[in-house]
Amino acid sequence: MKFKPANNIQDLQYFGEFGGVNPSISDSSTYTFLSAKTMFDTFEGNADGCYLYSRHSSPSNLYLGEALAAMEGTETATVTASGMGAITPVLLQLCDAGEHVVSSRTIYGGTYAFLKNFAPRLGIETTFVDITKLDVIEAAITPKTKVLYCETVSNPLLEVADISSLAKLAKTYNLKLVVDNTFSPLSISPIAFGADIVIHSLTKFINGSSDTVGGVVCGSQEFIDDLRNVNNGAAMLLGSTMDSLRSASVLKNLRTLHLRMMQHSHNASFLAEKFEKDGLKTVYPGLTSHPSHELFKSMLNEKYGYGGMLTIDVGTLEKANALMELMQQNKIGYLAVSLGFYKTLFSAPGSSTSSEIPEEEQKSMGLSSGLIRFSIGLDADIERTYIMINKCMKELNIL
Ligand SMILES: *Cc1c(COP(=O)(O)O)cnc(C)c1O
Repeated sequence: MKFKPANNIQDLQYFGEFGGVNPSISDSSTYTFLSAKTMFDTFEGNADGCYLYSRHSSPSNLYLGEALAAMEGTETATVTASGMGAITPVLLQLCDAGEHVVSSRTIYGGTYAFLKNFAPRLGIETTFVDITKLDVIEAAITPKTKVLYCETVSNPLLEVADISSLAKLAKTYNLKLVVDNTFSPLSISPIAFGADIVIHSLTKFINGSSDTVGGVVCGSQEFIDDLRNVNNGAAMLLGSTMDSLRSASVLKNLRTLHLRMMQHSHNASFLAEKFEKDGLKTVYPGLTSHPSHELFKSMLNEKYGYGGMLTIDVGTLEKANALMELMQQNKIGYLAVSLGFYKTLFSAPGSSTSSEIPEEEQKSMGLSSGLIRFSIGLDADIERTYIMINKCMKELNIL
């Protein structure tokens, strides 16, 4: 039987302070103690159920963490102020100066910039590889390598990582396999295939309302405790803590994630098939033409589908920009970065979210300037949306 992540969220029970069906929000940065001894024990992490200070932990953050750990099938999780606020502490916790990361080259621009430009200042070097080539990955591993890093479905090229094979490699060389699962929540559960740590930007599908940034690290109790250690924990000391009011609101949005993912996938799949039939260069993992279609299928939790992200290549940046502007004028969606909103969002990654990646490298990884990345919305009538997009394309001689 496949892992059922949405059931695990559904089965959680919360009881608020006054018997409310939602947990009460803890709107405090600091907590009182009746005994000074308990305060000391809490600081040392030895007083279960006691709170000291909200950068360390807060009830609201623990509730959201518990729900996300249930979703990913890990022992526990810690929520953070943003996705980057989850990614950077994980890498810094796992790597000391002089150590090494092997990372997919097609990752979120901010993660790429951190590994390429910032981590070397701390003596941490990264080799970027094509994540679909296992022999290339293995050859990049050195005795100093500590982390194998990838995104389940990569941004923006939608390459799919073979989590089971990567986990085997990680085991052989005693590395931690860290997977950013932001593009495929519920659809793929990386822990089930041997990943050690799963990260999400909650900003995207999980929160789904484009009203906040947020992040989470899902992992073993031991690793999450390390991240939150008051003496040497990177999450604790770098301080990217989520606010309690916000974590309470993300938790409420999480409850409809399964419905939203099904609709995002349904709509994206419909459009991808139409675009491909129209002769557009279309990339969507649900298309049989996608090089990793079968791989995605083999990891898929039934029902949730191949996700809401697709790309088309319209040839040039000028055409891409004209199409995006026209689609926005026609209320099809927004010319905006980010993903997982109820409206369709579109952007040209080469000149926006992946602009941290040098042009030469963009070319070599297949990131062309006419590429448009779509996060398909929750449109109730996707056929109507298709007709509207088709009209825009014809008007601009793209079709
Ligand atoms: C957006 C994103 C991030 C960064 O998350 P923030 O919440 O913006 O800090 C990381 N990884 C992926 C795949 C993303 O799409």
